[in-house]
Amino acid sequence: MDFDVIIIGAGPGGIFSAYELTRRKPELRVAVFEAGHPLHKRRCPIDGVKVKSCIGCKSCSIMSGFGGAGAFSDGKYNITNDFGGTLYEYLGKQRALELMRYVDEINLRYGGEGTHLYSTAGTKFKKLCIQNGLHLLDASVRHLGTDINYVVLENLYAELKDQVTFFFDTPVRAVEVIEGGYRVNCDAGSHTCAKCVISVGRSGSKWMEQVCRELDIKTRSNRVDLGVRVELPAEVFSHLTDELYESKIVYRTEKYGDLVRTFCMNPKGAVVNENTNGIVTVNGHSYEDPAKHTENTNFALLVSKHFSEPFKDSNGYGESIARLSNMLGGGVIVQRFGDLVSGHRSTEKRIRESFTTPTLNATPGDLSLVLPKRILDGIIEMIYALDKIAPGTANDDTLLYGVEVKFYNMEVSVNDHLETRYDGLYVIGDGSGITHSLSHASASGIFVAREITE
Ligand SMILES: Cc1cc2nc3c(=O)[nH]c(=O)nc-3n(C[C@H](O)[C@H](O)[C@H](O)COP(=O)(O)OP(=O)(O)OC[C@H]3O[C@@H](n4cnc5c(N)ncnc54)[C@H](O)[C@@H]3O)c2cc1C
Repeated sequence: MDFDVIIIGAGPGGIFSAYELTRRKPELRVAVFEAGHPLHKRRCPIDGVKVKSCIGCKSCSIMSGFGGAGAFSDGKYNITNDFGGTLYEYLGKQRALELMRYVDEINLRYGGEGTHLYSTAGTKFKKLCIQNGLHLLDASVRHLGTDINYVVLENLYAELKDQVTFFFDTPVRAVEVIEGGYRVNCDAGSHTCAKCVISVGRSGSKWMEQVCRELDIKTRSNRVDLGVRVELPAEVFSHLTDELYESKIVYRTEKYGDLVRTFCMNPKGAVVNENTNGIVTVNGHSYEDPAKHTENTNFALLVSKHFSEPFKDSNGYGESIARLSNMLGGGVIVQRFGDLVSGHRSTEKRIRESFTTPTLNATPGDLSLVLPKRILDGIIEMIYALDKIAPGTANDDTLLYGVEVKFYNMEVSVNDHLETRYDGLYVIGDGSGITHSLSHASASGIFVAREITE
């Protein structure tokens, strides 16, 4: 075999897996294959001046490369079983939390020391939320920020580069089962290994589906989250964000009984484009460095859509809606809340005159032409509910960007060791459909490395 272990994907799942393997058994020959660029070559061309919106790079630097989708993320490591994945269903709640704390220790050791750990424990906002029909989920969140997250990744790479063979700009095309291990096929050749860890994240979802089809590994898929990114003056949410940084709040709509939730809150942050398989959606991030703060806070409001038989293509449904917004707006659409509720499309002029200045250059438009009524109704209801705990949320000038889609990879059938029906073939991180966050993806990497070395 060329290597003892091959890891496919250098996102948090792959990186922490490589880290733990080399810590526990330095003699192992480990290789990491990554479709994207090394960290220092990752650069999204959107500069807001020459390039204002997504130009569809062959390898999206936001989603791919060393650090994975997490590299330019806000670096919020949520230590909780309440959201971010269902790793606990495989390892148990206690073990999952222990692994997330271990990841936190590594992040601190590699550059994250001095960053803040926020917690919902004992907060007065829990009561305030309940009194207004809202539910605050429990979590501790380490906020590294986009800048420190980058430093941690730089330091981890410096540590790993002499112990692990990295292949960048090398997408793996296929994985074959061979006697005693696996053959990993790339454009420039093949490599063999005894054990293989697949950690290809959301950008690798289509490829993961192909691998499962080819190797006859069962999958399950029935969920997509759809919604908008809300942007408003930071003062509106500052009482919550100062204490909790990020609050995961859930609301049950009166009209349909659907659950709407806040997601990925970025105090004083910026709204950004996200390109998944050529479809431009919206996301957000913020920096730890006060010099890079904006005047706005942004967060997503998402409605989970679960489908029942016979429909199976939940991601296809989400993609079609995102495509619709791309068709109408040439990318992401932005609309003032006041325009949405009064049935008007937003125009350049109305956005220019708005008291909230957008941090993303998006096309003014009408989200009601894009999002299904049921989802939009839920979002509007929740904005009014949030207005009770954070007055100003339902202001006419609050900006809504659409669409935000959380694609869930189909869940790959693995056992409690995160191993497929093939001995030594593991699927971890967001690519497994089991995790949807930095902390859970990283924890799954540590877990599998321990499984392999033990
Ligand atoms: C803008 C943004 C902000 C975010 N903010 C947060 C946050 O604050 N907190 C949080 O918890 N989560 C956040 N997330 C989500 C988080 O980044 C992911 O949950 C996490 O990165 C998943 O880690 P992973 O290793 O499973 O996958 P990824 O990070 O997606 O990494 C997978 C890697 O595999 C590579 N790959 C794919 N296919 C192949 C192939 N065939 N061959 C070789 N390589 C391949 C990809 O290029 C990629 O680099 C954010 C995501 C985005 C896009």
